[in-house]
Amino acid sequence: MPIKPELKKLYPDNWKEISLRIREESGGNCQFCGRPAVENLCVSHGGLWYDREMQVWRDRFGNHYQGLVPVYTMREVDIVLTVAHLDQDPRNCRPENLRALCQYCHNRYDRPWRIHHQHYGYHFNQLPLTLFA
Ligand SMILES: [Zn+2]
Repeated sequence: MPIKPELKKLYPDNWKEISLRIREESGGNCQFCGRPAVENLCVSHGGLWYDREMQVWRDRFGNHYQGLVPVYTMREVDIVLTVAHLDQDPRNCRPENLRALCQYCHNRYDRPWRIHHQHYGYHFNQLPLTLFA
């Protein structure tokens, strides 16, 4: 995920190193859904994806999917691992606050926060937000 210019100053100087370490520690897989960071991963409607190694379809949570896969929505995509801040605060780079996520999981995770920030702005100098309490 590209870093918004207005937030860049909040990231630590060694963010690239931190991000690389988190992605390496993930083993190259999304820590939410398990998708590997590969080119041409076969995906389908509803977040389904084909696990080449195990030769099974998986759902968006990484569980073995045994239902029908809609062939008409199959396509190949490149999976890119990004690093998400679970509390949405780019200053908080403690390992327990960071996860290596594919672009789908990162977007899904950030969506409610993006909507909140669009309406209310950023509040990093205030108490932590508790959107999901
Ligand atoms: Zn994922």
